Amino acid sequence: MTAQLIDGKAIGLKVQEEVRLAVAKMKEEHDYVPGLATVLVGDDPASNTYVGMKQRTCKKLGIRSIGHTLPADATQEEVEKLVSELNADPTVNGILVQLPLPGHLDEEAILNSIDLEKDVDGFHPINIGRLAMKGRDALFAPCTPAGCMRLLEEIGVDPSGKDAVIVGRSNIVGQPMAMLLQKANATVTVCHSRTKDLAGHVRRGDIVVAAIGRMEMITGDMIKPGATVIDVGINQKEDPTRKRGYRLVGDVDFESAKEVAGWITPVPGGVGPMTIAMLMQNTLRAAEIYLAKKS
Ligand code: NDP
Repeated sequence: MTAQLIDGKAIGLKVQEEVRLAVAKMKEEHDYVPGLATVLVGDDPASNTYVGMKQRTCKKLGIRSIGHTLPADATQEEVEKLVSELNADPTVNGILVQLPLPGHLDEEAILNSIDLEKDVDGFHPINIGRLAMKGRDALFAPCTPAGCMRLLEEIGVDPSGKDAVIVGRSNIVGQPMAMLLQKANATVTVCHSRTKDLAGHVRRGDIVVAAIGRMEMITGDMIKPGATVIDVGINQKEDPTRKRGYRLVGDVDFESAKEVAGWITPVPGGVGPMTIAMLMQNTLRAAEIYLAKKS
């Protein structure tokens, strides 16, 4: 059996187009444009690239992008002061503090200081708490897991009643993914570095989400035939045939897994494009919340 590919690039573009149209409508009807402020501390090249991608996507969709860069030795007070100014700015709907922050900064305190209604990354403890509670909804779900849920929706895989196995329990991917799948009525198993018999757990998954950060760790023999496999991992694998000397691979061994799975995301072009698309959607939602409160 050869799995069907989940085209995250096309689905991500579809989400972007929905946001672009809604932004244009908001501008026409309310003379208001959503604004996303990015806060970059230091000059980490990967963080720079991510922030640049987010800013370019904002521009493409008609969202105002406000970039703030602080030096790597910025103090806790300086970062929190900036966040507090952005909290008070009515033209800023979303505040994105690019992680990871330099080690001397208290990441938790900075994320806590973001106004709940501007928490477009969905990392504020109250948003995470609401996500975890039955019958409550977070204002914003973290972008990568929300993107995975949209992929499932687009391919018509309803998690309800299914066994979902997530490998990884980080605050930004694994943990919120588990909460979202549970909200969608899946029976969820979360595996991590101390899990015994990982293969045995993964093999029971009708839906498998890999968010480990370990190259090609989930192999075809661990996959239940027909399962839906969502690969969040992004790893650089040495490849001398490529100009840059490497290619990107996921946490799933694509070649063996695609022979067993029913659906599978490629890397790149699977989950990656969904993360930015969902950030744009969250920013639009933040602007909608702002306008609803104002009227
Ligand atoms: P973290 O390093 O924060 O978390 C990794 C998780 O995997 C941990 O919970 C860890 O367990 C678990 N783990 C590590 N080794 C094993 C093992 N041998 N067996 C089982 N579980 C294990 O990573 P992130 O969640 O931030 O990211 C995961 C991957 O997703 C990375 O490749 C990252 O680059 C990618 N990513 C992609 C995004 C996208 O947009 N596509 C966005 C964010 C991340 P424990 O808790 O016990 O340590």
